[in-house]
Amino acid sequence: MRIALVSAQASPLGLGGPTAGGRHTHVAALAEALGALSHEVTVYVRREDKSAPETVPLAPGVSVEQVAAGPVEPLPPDDQLPLMGEFGRALAGRWGKDPGSGPDVVHAHYWLSGLAALTATADVRRPVIVTYHGLSAAERRHLPMDRNTSQGPRAGLERTLGSLADRVIAQSEDEVAELGRMGVRRGSTVIVPSGVDTERFTPTGPAADHRRPGLRRILAVGPLVERKGFGDLVEALRRVPGAELIIVGGSDPARPPRDIDADPEARRLVELADANGVADRVRIVGAVPHDDLPSWYRSADVLACAPWYEPFGLTPLEAMACGVPVVAYEVGGIGESVIDNVTGVLVPPRDVNGLAGALRSLLGDEVRRMSFASAAIDRVRSRYTWERTATELERVYRSVTGANEVEDSDEDELSEVS
Ligand code: UDP
Repeated sequence: MRIALVSAQASPLGLGGPTAGGRHTHVAALAEALGALSHEVTVYVRREDKSAPETVPLAPGVSVEQVAAGPVEPLPPDDQLPLMGEFGRALAGRWGKDPGSGPDVVHAHYWLSGLAALTATADVRRPVIVTYHGLSAAERRHLPMDRNTSQGPRAGLERTLGSLADRVIAQSEDEVAELGRMGVRRGSTVIVPSGVDTERFTPTGPAADHRRPGLRRILAVGPLVERKGFGDLVEALRRVPGAELIIVGGSDPARPPRDIDADPEARRLVELADANGVADRVRIVGAVPHDDLPSWYRSADVLACAPWYEPFGLTPLEAMACGVPVVAYEVGGIGESVIDNVTGVLVPPRDVNGLAGALRSLLGDEVRRMSFASAAIDRVRSRYTWERTATELERVYRSVTGANEVEDSDEDELSEVS
């Protein structure tokens, strides 16, 4: 199949950059996995770099095409709504008017790219699939409104997108429920979780060190934004003696400063660590290239993951693939990927005492920790490989392309009758 992955806001070319996150990882890995199944995959991203060529090969059968829409510079994702019409029309221009040309299926990532995909397929019909990577309604419920500034018309447009797309890919049961509350038909929703690169994220290999002697290591990974709950981890650390907290991740993609020391969230966390008397046990590393992350996971005794909300959460799976158990808030997809008391410990969201207790008891029981570690590796290898994600999506793609043929032939029959 010719597969178009529309990802205007998260380019695989930006993976490993200071503001990259889960969507970058997802789109890059999915494109490669679909390419490995012998599909022809093109990832369409918004051009934000003048120097990069228009088409960049990524892997066998996979390329990234940069599409001009708006200023050629990085823009915060949620500022890009006014550009999505132009982006979508540019895609339609590339794909042409002949239904036999262009992609067989269009899979959009994030609501804004979903809107662009609808524009691109308005005149020449092609099946559109959308993965939201986070829903406005869920974010509104879990995140305080005053911190949730950039929602605008998002909720309404997400609903429209869900009703117009041929299929909606949910990444967890939790997301299916959320989509149902939004009014998206259950029949058009399919659960396909993200995967992990199990060749890159392995239990054996080099481990990042510089460990303070005598301390156990709690690792936390993700963009430095308040909703990721690093503040809760800093507070919990007060009640986890003998452990250090290492925070790896770049700045808020919406407002990246020049360096990590200037990052407002990094400063807030340092002040919080001071106030809790744990400053000597907290280290903020900043963004590291994606390829360096396995060595950070391997260096850890436990991954702590305390977001206020997480639609899916790749970092728990990456840690588990490296043989590191996870202590996490039971939110969104994390409540399904981490099995409580088997691959880690789940704690009710925002329960800092619970977090501290779970970390303390796991770090104090090496046999339990090791048994969680080996169950974590098994779980990821059996359930969360990109190969499996790609195979399940391939089935969805085939179902929508096949369904269209039926619809088309039905229409032909009807027109013949009339
Ligand atoms: N990541 C990275 N470098 C960093 C921090 C994170 O490459 O310094 C990657 C990490 O490996 C993961 C992704 O960013 O693949 C974060 O994904 P997640 O779903 O946990 O959070 P999101 O960024 O979507 O909020």
